[in-house]
Amino acid sequence: MTAIATLGSHCSLQVLKGARDEGIKSILICEKKRERLYRRFNFIDELILVDSFHEILDHRCNSILEKNNAILIPHGTLIAQMSSKEIESIKIPIFGNKSILRWESDRSLKEKLMLEAKLNVPKSVFSPREINKLVIAKRHGAAGGKGYFMATTEAEYNKKRDNLISQGIIKGDDDLYLQEYASGVLAYLQYFYSPLKEELEFFGVDKRHESDIDGLARIPSQLQMKMDEVSSFNVIANSPLVLRESLLSEVYSMGERFVAAAKRLVSPGMNGPFCIEGVYDADAKFWSFEFSARIVAGTNIFMQGSPYSTLFYDEPMSMGRRIAREVKNAESSKQIDKIVT
Ligand code: ATP
Repeated sequence: MTAIATLGSHCSLQVLKGARDEGIKSILICEKKRERLYRRFNFIDELILVDSFHEILDHRCNSILEKNNAILIPHGTLIAQMSSKEIESIKIPIFGNKSILRWESDRSLKEKLMLEAKLNVPKSVFSPREINKLVIAKRHGAAGGKGYFMATTEAEYNKKRDNLISQGIIKGDDDLYLQEYASGVLAYLQYFYSPLKEELEFFGVDKRHESDIDGLARIPSQLQMKMDEVSSFNVIANSPLVLRESLLSEVYSMGERFVAAAKRLVSPGMNGPFCIEGVYDADAKFWSFEFSARIVAGTNIFMQGSPYSTLFYDEPMSMGRRIAREVKNAESSKQIDKIVT
């Protein structure tokens, strides 16, 4: 029997509850400092206690996981804390496509895949000297928006960059990627692609609350002008959205183009959960600035299912449970190779 394992953070509760709901053994790789928290949840069958998540690469952790026939479910904490090389060297099978996680972490690979999928991506700005409209400066990797800032001129950019350098958040220009700022309604589109059924399911949509860029809107502009702080986009929470139904056909089309593009560029493609992240502008055109090639934390909102998963399933279906269902179906049809790398 296969087990499902994940790192104790991000969406691990949802993933392991989903495993339990599908009758699959659940294993948490848990930092010792969080043991008390995770012992509260009786759907977690086994905890592997570690000092650092890097121990997943060590013999002890690996052999427990191997003995349990475990599949690792990757999430944002894995991407944030480990390099692509380390992730690719994990010995146990990883759900989905571990090669595509490198494409998520590398801004130029990321853009290549998004353009191949014919998504509308805000233009990159290659040098601070080229800044002539509102841009956002973002750090590489999954920094979760921390330390990101906006600028409209090179001088403003330099000032804010130097501020981040003095705080030790970045070392210099090379740590930042500049992109035109897309204004509108933020939407994070959550999908699941089943390599077994060869079918795309649109699972839900959320918006993020980011500090303190969201707080800025509550301050009158006269007072904003007097402020010297650099606002950040540090993600704090997510809340659910439902889209106008007329937008759904393009939502599916974007997801399908993304799956097809990933098949062409990063074999075996975009299997399992993923998210296309962006902004609807005043003409309801979607500008995508980002994708996540694995489950996103915004799915935690829908532990009981979402307005969209309800259209496919007559039972509460979270993304975590959907992953476990795919594992179960693959196991019973002897196709585990199709769902892991
Ligand atoms: P994560 O890996 O957690 O998704 P990240 O570090 O890769 O985050 P992004 O998702 O690219 O970063 O950006 C973080 C936030 O910055 C977004 O949620 C959004 O609010 C804002 N943002 C990023 N790019 C743009 C853009 N081009 N236009 C408008 N807002 C943007």
